[in-house]
Amino acid sequence: MRYISTRGGISPISFKDAVMMGLASDGGLLLPDSYPAVTRDQLESWRKFSYPELAFEIISRYVEDIPAVDLKSLINRSYSTFSHPDVTPMVKQDGLYILELFHGVTLAFKDVALQFLGNLFEYILAERNQKLNIIGATSGDTGSAAIHGVRGKKGISIFILHPHGKTSEVQALQMTSVTDDNVHNIAIRGTFDDCQDMVKELFGDLEFKEKYSLGAVNSINWARVLAQVVYYFYAWLRATDESDVPVNFAVPTGNFGDIFAGYVAKRMGLPVGKLLLATNENNILTRFINNADYSLGTVVSTASPSMDIQIASNFERYLFHLFDENPERVKTAFTELKEKGRISFSQEEMLIVREDFCSASVNHGATLLAIRKFFDDTAYLLDPHTAVGVKAALDLLPPDSARICLATAHPAKFSETVEQSLGFQPPVPESVKELYGKPTRCEVMDADISKVREFFISHIV
Ligand SMILES: *Cc1c(COP(=O)(O)O)cnc(C)c1O
Repeated sequence: MRYISTRGGISPISFKDAVMMGLASDGGLLLPDSYPAVTRDQLESWRKFSYPELAFEIISRYVEDIPAVDLKSLINRSYSTFSHPDVTPMVKQDGLYILELFHGVTLAFKDVALQFLGNLFEYILAERNQKLNIIGATSGDTGSAAIHGVRGKKGISIFILHPHGKTSEVQALQMTSVTDDNVHNIAIRGTFDDCQDMVKELFGDLEFKEKYSLGAVNSINWARVLAQVVYYFYAWLRATDESDVPVNFAVPTGNFGDIFAGYVAKRMGLPVGKLLLATNENNILTRFINNADYSLGTVVSTASPSMDIQIASNFERYLFHLFDENPERVKTAFTELKEKGRISFSQEEMLIVREDFCSASVNHGATLLAIRKFFDDTAYLLDPHTAVGVKAALDLLPPDSARICLATAHPAKFSETVEQSLGFQPPVPESVKELYGKPTRCEVMDADISKVREFFISHIV
């Protein structure tokens, strides 16, 4: 198994090199050169597996350069931090399956990938005697999951910029209450875009990047997608334990990362019907699937902020496959996007898209109503991201199929919206209550790149 770039500009590399490269050096995204097939017999033999056992079966098929004992230990350590024995338990409510992906330390599904990535980084860096300085901008979820993924890890330091006072209180505390020496929170007096622009500028300075071993943890790292493939298998096995029903997944989508993992599972042979791509008002991907209209709009803020995205970074991985693995076609598409603000697709391509995907966009009002209706019917609390997927599933997926909705965040993480919908706040989990008494550390700064650079240089590993 080797890794190649969607832009065709690198010679194939190993898994470990792909993890360390993150974004491909030709500007594309890394992908395996093939998808290992899983047979129905193999699938059946995995029914009794625990989550980490299943994770090993799937992940090891993509990793040829880490010994099995080491990979097992990395996986076991990554999922031992989850508060539920099943790691990603699935519950049935009102005829829908809810796949709870929020039992990790920061109560959102990003922990599933970032706990694993943090351990992988530490392992590879130790082996190569290298260091890594991670820098990133966050509006909330990714930053806290990344910080918890690498806190206390040897050879790594992390610098996360967030807009001062503009994340939810819980999100800010999940970041600033981590006071390990290798964790640096920087609150910028400005917007998320200011944070993002400064991070881009630092990465754009290639000399600086090289000199200080700059790394990223954004959703372009292949290891993150890979870790997420596992729960599609896990959920499929649980849903089909009793009977052989068709299985569809509903996935609230921002960067196309989580749903791309579902596509990978399908390519490996997991018998999945449709992947339902659910968006909020930022609906470019819904317009693409339903109307072949992939044209850029402007980002609007919604009740599901982790999906407020126009350019979904992982979409390029899917386009590579849609375009018959032809890097030239990928490059042409992105040139068109840059010049005309859209990508055009042929009718044949759209037929292929619609074989695997269907889509719906759920607006603010419908999201709030969905939270309330689901609670009235089941007494189960949905966070606003999950509610977008649930509403889309109820509208589009056949009720005689197993409809699996990915629950991407704990409702307490977005309690303001839940309260808006229900009139009361969701119960606060112990791990969130504990945050309030903890000491915090955070550097507050103006949106001044030279100050950020100075701070970074004086705190690297
Ligand atoms: C990041 C995130 C999403 C979107 O996931 P993508 O992989 O970007 O599609 C959905 N819900 C929550 C709670 C998130 O944090």
